[in-house]
Amino acid sequence: MLIQAPPKKLNHNVAIPTATKTDLTRTKVTLIAGDGVGPEIAVAVQKILAAAGAPLDWENCVAGGEAFAKGVISGVPAETIESIRRTGIVLKGPLETPIGYGGKSANVTLRKLFETYANVRPAREISGVATPFSGRGIDFVVVRENVEDLYAGVEHMQSPSVAQCLKLITRKGSEKVIRLAFELAISEGRKSVHCATKANIMKLTEGLFKKVFEEVALDYPQIKAHHILIDNAAHQLVIRPEQFEVIVTTNMNGDILSDLASGLVGGLGFAPSANLGTEAAIFEAVHGSAPDIAGQGLANPSALLFSAVMMLRHLGHLDIAKRVKNALLYVLESGEYRTADFSQGQTPVNTDVFAQAVIAALDKLPTRMPEKEYQRLTLPAAGPQAESHPTTREVVGADIFIESTLPPNALGTALSGLCAESSLSLSMISNRGTQVFPNGAPETDCVDVYRCRFVSKVQGEVVGDADIFSLLERIAKEYRWMHVEKLQQFDGAPGYTRAQGED
Ligand code: NAP
Repeated sequence: MLIQAPPKKLNHNVAIPTATKTDLTRTKVTLIAGDGVGPEIAVAVQKILAAAGAPLDWENCVAGGEAFAKGVISGVPAETIESIRRTGIVLKGPLETPIGYGGKSANVTLRKLFETYANVRPAREISGVATPFSGRGIDFVVVRENVEDLYAGVEHMQSPSVAQCLKLITRKGSEKVIRLAFELAISEGRKSVHCATKANIMKLTEGLFKKVFEEVALDYPQIKAHHILIDNAAHQLVIRPEQFEVIVTTNMNGDILSDLASGLVGGLGFAPSANLGTEAAIFEAVHGSAPDIAGQGLANPSALLFSAVMMLRHLGHLDIAKRVKNALLYVLESGEYRTADFSQGQTPVNTDVFAQAVIAALDKLPTRMPEKEYQRLTLPAAGPQAESHPTTREVVGADIFIESTLPPNALGTALSGLCAESSLSLSMISNRGTQVFPNGAPETDCVDVYRCRFVSKVQGEVVGDADIFSLLERIAKEYRWMHVEKLQQFDGAPGYTRAQGED
């Protein structure tokens, strides 16, 4: 089935609230119970929400395993897409990604299709769920960019043995998620936001995210803004996790950091998440379908229930959210009812008994860590950082990617010869990012794809398309080439990086 993107109903330049319903309005929610343990935990959560008086009406929809089995290649049937377009709100159980058949992950399809650009994953210590970090007061949120970066899924085999994945970072995508992180900090009464990147190595991609963070931070003077390198962030999260309040980061970094964060506070059974966008919001447990325990009533519904609490807050049902969360925290703190995944030596209860215990605790308050006060989060609109309008831009050369098994010096000599009648000259060749011609190191273990950098023979002269085409034509007669990237300058600043070892 061909999936079409949902129509863009909203103007991104206008700040909009996350939902327009009041506490008295009943809200339609698309429920995707999902695969494996999904239906068991979804039923448990529905019962608890009903008992708490959450004014929700469910539209039951299918995605994942059941859809793949019916031949829906994307794993997301058209009726499910229509329901989400109608409701804009999804509570979702885990979806299996079949191995060996079916297309891409139905989870990723849903997140991308509805442009849920931010993945929000809170990590807060839970009284009664013992971890090596208990007592430290861990309480932070990871805000992960959710649609760009390596997860854009733009991959190519450049040669039969060299694979490439494009890391796409945009000003607009970065700004949206970074603004959301600051707004989230405000809505939760937090004082600081850390931006975690690898900008020291990926100066343009991760560097752009950092730059936009620094620009957006100026609009939030009441929040302390810090930059931290992603590797140090991972280290600090284990050494001193209590120092963090909000961490905003790129997709791949966030994928890893947020799982680490879940591990600090009890693991998969307790980790909720929200995928937020202006068109739709999808709330789901972080865990998967746990096929080994599916259908046995063993699953812990806490992660999906915490996700449902986030959904209630998003809808503006702050009091009901607080009541449900306090009831769950009370049950966890009391330790009387525990599912098998955290039974800690006592006889475990099944999913339904656990849910009934939460229902019975709906007017109880945990003593040690009651739910905090939240304001409703307003999804920010992209602002002036979303676009960049340089005054000047010029092309100063081109990187041409060539497949060859020649050693670097032989290739360099041959390509220099091909430039004899061109306006361009070969300035360097790199292999996996390391300069190998001229002056390569003998230790570099070359593969069969080379990046060959050509610049104007007249220093500083702008390069035209015709210069590149005619050189490419010459190269194509003798070599396989698979990719050309122009070397552009914006306001005189290079829009490309140097190779390792390039002067
Ligand atoms: P998983 O389903 O998260 O399960 C890993 C293990 O965690 C389970 O075997 C179980 O451990 C425990 N577990 C997870 N959720 C639990 C719960 N609610 N209560 C109690 N224990 C729980 O990871 P997986 O086995 O790698 O993935 C299985 C399938 O889920 C795959 O098809 C994967 O693609 C999919 N998946 C979907 C999502 C999503 O929909 N967002 C996320 C991740 C994975 P024990 O062995 O100790 O019982």
